[in-house]
Amino acid sequence: MQQGRVYLIGAGPGDPELMTLKAARALGGADVILIDELVSRGCLAHARSDATVVDVGKRGGCMSTPQAFIEKLMIQHARQGRKVARLKGGDPFVFGRGSEELAVLEAAGIEVEIIPGITAGIGVPAMLGIPVTHREVARGVTFITAHTTDGAAPNWPALVAAGTTLVFYMGLKNLQVIVAGLLDAGMPGETPACVIENGTLKRQRQNVTTLARLSAAGFKGPAVIVVGAVVRFARMQKSSLVKAA
Ligand code: SAH
Repeated sequence: MQQGRVYLIGAGPGDPELMTLKAARALGGADVILIDELVSRGCLAHARSDATVVDVGKRGGCMSTPQAFIEKLMIQHARQGRKVARLKGGDPFVFGRGSEELAVLEAAGIEVEIIPGITAGIGVPAMLGIPVTHREVARGVTFITAHTTDGAAPNWPALVAAGTTLVFYMGLKNLQVIVAGLLDAGMPGETPACVIENGTLKRQRQNVTTLARLSAAGFKGPAVIVVGAVVRFARMQKSSLVKAA
């Protein structure tokens, strides 16, 4: 029997057109597609009509498919000679557990192809005109999760001292903690900051403000929180947002 393989695919931040050509090609060849909650269903336009689509979504601690089950499923299908597309939001290796899945698959002797995607922390601010590393304004960009498995807090003074743009993933529930942490560590309250929800999609909403005024009120997520002088460049370009499919 022909050996199957798994494609670990980043679908980009929302708009299906922000998926790569390589991702679209891999999807088109897949027998089985495991799709995460955050991935727009419009990405499936590239899938074969007879492909099996398995929804393995998980959002903020709600009912979701256990990680071990997802991994078992991929291994089973690949061992039966199938091409499996594992479709993840953004980039599979940025807060996406792609590396954990890769390790498990490789340990099981399954061939894996990694297909990077545009991560939300870059693509979502960019759609709003925010250049996360604009020179003279930011020395770089730091991606941070406000939601760690060990519950440890970020090193706030180090983040403030670094002088980089800060992009928080999964931070909406901890927004007050983020704001307090940065203010206590000496970041000025007037530092530009924003929340961007459902970025790149028609239902995108954002609040462009300052660190001291940042609030999660009215947002449900998924959202990125961007803090730093580059947020000053924010401007709306509604015409390029697409309806979620
Ligand atoms: N691997 C993904 C991140 C998964 S963690 C990537 O590279 O983008 C999920 C978090 O990503 C969300 O809590 C949110 O912070 C961010 N996110 C994903 N899609 C988003 C979108 N369309 N708009 C805003 N934030 C988004």
